[in-house]
Amino acid sequence: MWYNNILETIGNTPLVKLNNITQDVRGTILVKVETTNPGNSIKDRMAVKMVEDAEKAGLLKPGGTIIEGTSGNTGMGLAIAAVIKGYKCIFTTTDKQSKEKIDALRAFGAQVIVCPTNVDPEDPRSYYAVSSRLAREIPNSWKANQYDNLSNTQAHYEQTGPEIWEQTEGRVTHLVVGVGTGGTISGAGRYLKEKNPGIQVWGIDSYGSVFKKYKETGIFDKSEIHPYITEGIGEDFLPKNVDFSVIDLFEKVTDKDAALMTREIARKEGIFAGNSAGAAIAGLLQLKDRLHDDAVVVVILHDHGSRYMAKMYNDDWLRERGFLNDEKLTAQAILRK
Ligand code: PMP
Repeated sequence: MWYNNILETIGNTPLVKLNNITQDVRGTILVKVETTNPGNSIKDRMAVKMVEDAEKAGLLKPGGTIIEGTSGNTGMGLAIAAVIKGYKCIFTTTDKQSKEKIDALRAFGAQVIVCPTNVDPEDPRSYYAVSSRLAREIPNSWKANQYDNLSNTQAHYEQTGPEIWEQTEGRVTHLVVGVGTGGTISGAGRYLKEKNPGIQVWGIDSYGSVFKKYKETGIFDKSEIHPYITEGIGEDFLPKNVDFSVIDLFEKVTDKDAALMTREIARKEGIFAGNSAGAAIAGLLQLKDRLHDDAVVVVILHDHGSRYMAKMYNDDWLRERGFLNDEKLTAQAILRK
């Protein structure tokens, strides 16, 4: 038995019970470990789906160039798809992203342009604006546009949602997901709610992002926006892939709790996951009073820890930000709040 190429190995990721971090939390806490995808993140799923839908729609033609503004994980998925399918890739990213993520994209032959983080999306220097300009200027190019391209949500409606339903034999009661483009939570959440409208879908957001306030008030509040450290989740605009009607609530997690919890997942559960995994688990712990003994909670762990070696997994990095002082207490401290 073999796969015809690496893209066929995407998906069917393991669902694993947490036994230590969440021992004082009611219910069964399961994590969907997306690190086993070939690009080491959940984004492989939507990257391939976006490429294949673009091919079908005639937007991406043989020999074409894939362009995207990406924080790394979507780029990995697109770069791998491009290798297998024979496209070129140009990515724009921000100077906030891990060097490891950028080097990994280059390993697959992609060209990466690093843009400043702290400028408006409309600013011509922003990674959104630069990728759009390149897509206009380069002949036979296609911008994937993961924020507004609904193939993103559809990938999770077709894959992630059904896998969770089958792996829990329909017993899942809660889905907890860090929200960036919104594709994961909207697609998986919509599928699960169609199966059982009683399933709670909780989005994890970061301080500095607009999602939670928008969900609660309907107001896009620019004063919520400020720079933050947590990677992959939260935004300063509203992507089309965030379907607020599928999401029951948002919970915000601090950069410090997200960073320390990321480490705690490795130390207490043996799972080497990325920064947004720490945010998702910390957010779940903050919401623990809403859980009951029969709850079956699925938390998505979006990506792999190897991309954060110079960040949360580096003691000096943590110390410089004043995060290291009470590391041992993270889970316990959140639970006591
Ligand atoms: N975590 C990480 C590490 C990510 O790269 C992303 C994608 N931006 C997310 C979480 C959020 O996933 P989504 O874009 O599907 O909302």
